[in-house]
Amino acid sequence: MFEKWNATQLCWCKSGKKYGECHQKIEDKIREFKKQGCMVPTRKLLKTPEQIEGIRESGKLNIAVLDYVAEHIQAGMSTEAINTLVHDKILELGGIPAPLNFEGFPKSVCTSINNQICHGIPSEDMILGVGDIINVDVSTIYKGYFSDSSRMFCIGEVSEENRKLVQTAKECVLLALEEVKPWKFMGDLGAVITKHAYANGYSVVQEVGGHGVGLKFHEKPTIMYVTRKNTGMLLVPGMVFTIEPMINMGTHEIYIDDDNGWTIYTDDDKPSAQWEVTIVVTEKGYEILAC
Ligand code: MN
Repeated sequence: MFEKWNATQLCWCKSGKKYGECHQKIEDKIREFKKQGCMVPTRKLLKTPEQIEGIRESGKLNIAVLDYVAEHIQAGMSTEAINTLVHDKILELGGIPAPLNFEGFPKSVCTSINNQICHGIPSEDMILGVGDIINVDVSTIYKGYFSDSSRMFCIGEVSEENRKLVQTAKECVLLALEEVKPWKFMGDLGAVITKHAYANGYSVVQEVGGHGVGLKFHEKPTIMYVTRKNTGMLLVPGMVFTIEPMINMGTHEIYIDDDNGWTIYTDDDKPSAQWEVTIVVTEKGYEILAC
């Protein structure tokens, strides 16, 4: 499955180390898991130190842009105004907004309010009101590297119900992060997410999830969050992906906006919340590259 590499050759990852002292052990171990029938990453999904550094730099922009949104977001503002903030800030920092024109997406950021689960399209007509909860999903391309993260914002005083939903969605990501260790499985993340969401009386969206990221906006694997332990792709150092479960107050069922073909809503129009981080699997666990 991996192109043959000699132990005394310089490693393909350009670490400067010999293959025998770098990726050989990792790839031997991956082969063992594959023999047992596990889903394993290809070499393409293992980012090199240089690529990880590039994604880390891109992630710094993504974080700065979301910090900037956090400073300015307020009641009375349109989601189009958030789009302008994000678009201008990314350009000012030397990046490119990844969502703009991505498969025809018309704006530079996704803004998903209340019953919108994700892919909300910024609009002059959508005005933030006190009590709203909104997900702002920013993705940046910087020097060719992609990063992707989102946060929830509570506009003014929100109901106790909404506040708890937002908090629980964040806890789901934090719990999933604790599961990220080499030689565990992607399904372990969804297992703790589902358990925590269900324990709070919520549901988890099943049709949309996370993804590999870094050299492209969306890479393999596609990551779902209603999963069981020890299923899904093997976690290996160098894999970069998002954790972004969507937690619904009511039903897990969804519908897609007929008019724009993008925005996903809860079927019962109850609120949904989502936080997203981009991470890299390390030798010991993980590093957050964007949040
Ligand atoms: Mn994403």
